[in-house]
Amino acid sequence: MRGAFARWTAGHVNLKNRVDRSNMAQKNLLMVGAGLSGAVIGRKLAEAGHKVTIVDARDHIAGNCHTERDADSGVMVHVYGPHIFHTDDTEVWDYVNRFQTFMPYKNRVKTTSGGQVFSLPVNLHTINQFFNKTMRPDEAHAFITQEQADTSIEDPQTFEEQAMRFVGKDLYEAFFKGYTMKQWGCHPSELPASILKRLPVRFNYDDNYFFHKYQGMPENGYTDMVAGILEHENITVHLSTSFDRSQTADYDHVFYSGQLDGYYGYDLGRLGYRTLDFERFTYDGDYQGCAVMNYGEVDVPYTRITEHKHFSPWESHEGSVCYKEFSRECGAEDIPYYPIRLMDEKDMLQDYVKRAGAEQKVTFVGRLGTYRYLDMDVTIREALDTADVFLNATEADPMP
Ligand code: FAD
Ligand code: UDP
Repeated sequence: MRGAFARWTAGHVNLKNRVDRSNMAQKNLLMVGAGLSGAVIGRKLAEAGHKVTIVDARDHIAGNCHTERDADSGVMVHVYGPHIFHTDDTEVWDYVNRFQTFMPYKNRVKTTSGGQVFSLPVNLHTINQFFNKTMRPDEAHAFITQEQADTSIEDPQTFEEQAMRFVGKDLYEAFFKGYTMKQWGCHPSELPASILKRLPVRFNYDDNYFFHKYQGMPENGYTDMVAGILEHENITVHLSTSFDRSQTADYDHVFYSGQLDGYYGYDLGRLGYRTLDFERFTYDGDYQGCAVMNYGEVDVPYTRITEHKHFSPWESHEGSVCYKEFSRECGAEDIPYYPIRLMDEKDMLQDYVKRAGAEQKVTFVGRLGTYRYLDMDVTIREALDTADVFLNATEADPMP
């Protein structure tokens, strides 16, 4: 049955923001969450003269983008998993560069499968190595499309169909099937094609994981960048402070980047997430020679190993800090990472979204507040736009 795989793919969850226009003076605003969403919205509203309080349940700022230096080796660690900045949005790129120097960084991912190391995303090197050939681009294209791909699949709906249609069974089974089962906890025939469409197949030797015009890594880490965003006289940050809905009464408006279902005490049920466990280990030297090594086979229990020092190639460190990454179903006490958005959650999600849209004083933002996977650049774009909507609605005069 097709319905089983169809995750709910409607794009933007439009949580309408109804702003009280009665008082045009300085507003007393609360941001729940000191991640990119709360920081960027808070900064823009603070610059417009509003008083901004930010609370975060964690003991650090920057949310899931948080980076910190390892005490022993000095390596900058991406605490909640690898984060690479990539965007086509010039305004967003200019915005992040206002608060941090971005160093050139291209994400070049490798994968281990069948006792060999291959290059990702699937490119001419991957294809030639895997099939033990020396094909030119046009030969490889003809080989994949005529001898590997299942061209009888006209309009791939599932992850598996997408893979069979564009790379064929052999590459699918080596690189995607096992990894995806580990990552998502279900068979690729139950997942939508859209997940795999994020990855290109290239018939040249370009192994850059992303297409975007601007790519880079913040010189002193994301947390330092977010600290710069939060550095404003109208912003006060309280860490290790959980939001309680009763606090809403104390503010003119609340921007909430916590879990949408969490705001309502999960009273309609819990929206599904995958969580990650990281097994940290150190190494004296260079452990794997690259930042990210994926593991395509299902019998290797982790999806990938991240060696953090390779995210800062302009730095030099003797020691190394690595994370083995394990994906599993998110329990009540776990950190939610990837929204699953399965079809059977659609009604529950819509009910939460409806309630959220009816809130007068609360705007739901960010990856948790809108229950969507958002890259950092999209998060920042939406945060800037959300602040603009609020400012237009309140007709606040920007202050110098
Ligand atoms: P978050 O960063 O989750 O911040 C929300 C904050 O709210 C958290 O700090 C939380 O503690 C706080 N909070 C929640 N509820 C409450 C409450 N009730 N009271 C107080 N505080 C609360 N994007 C990229 O562009 N490139 C990448 O390479 C990339 N890699 C990623 C890898 C992984 C494993 C994951 C999961 C995401 C990745 N992302 C990447 C996406 C990136 O993490 C998000 O775009 C970004 O974190 C979204 O910011 P946010 O502020 O919306 O949410
Ligand atoms: N994927 C895979 N093998 C890999 C890398 C990715 O099967 O080596 C699949 C996996 O299902 C993943 C999807 O392709 O969720 C999209 O890849 P991406 O790198 O965008 O994953 P994410 O950033 O979501 O972890």
